[in-house]
Amino acid sequence: MSNKLNRTLQSQFSALQTEFIVSACLCGIPCRYDGKSAADLEMVKLVQAKKALPICPEILGGLAIPREPTEIANGEGKDVLLGSAQVVSKKGEDVTPFFLRGAYFSLKIAKKLKIKKAYMKKNSPSCGSGMIMRKGRRVKGDGVTTALFKREGIRVVSR
Ligand code: SF4
Repeated sequence: MSNKLNRTLQSQFSALQTEFIVSACLCGIPCRYDGKSAADLEMVKLVQAKKALPICPEILGGLAIPREPTEIANGEGKDVLLGSAQVVSKKGEDVTPFFLRGAYFSLKIAKKLKIKKAYMKKNSPSCGSGMIMRKGRRVKGDGVTTALFKREGIRVVSR
């Protein structure tokens, strides 16, 4: 990120009174792979009250809307962070670099805002907490951004 952009983000963030990060799709933002949202009224209210900042790690990582559905093929988020698992699209494309970029960008934002708690969308390969999807079934594990947040001491609540 350029120094100018970094300074701009920093000045904008410091003006916010944000306590939480929340998955953007939970706030009614249509950023899911299928171009839809997963609005959760409680989360929308948190954002309207300026208590929560919506972020979408997959968009921050450079993926488009809509996009192919993806899953962590051979592990969970912490394995992706360690380099021992990959995120692949339905067509079999390795999209791991997008997920890693989005996770670390999200963490950078969380650290600038001194965020201690995040509300994250359940089952997602980025945002899932405790459970993710694999071959149409829910399996134990965290998404990539959630795994990074937890590793860095941010409490994650699954929604
Ligand atoms: Fe974006 Fe996370 Fe929602 Fe997926 S679950 S659309 S990565 S905010």
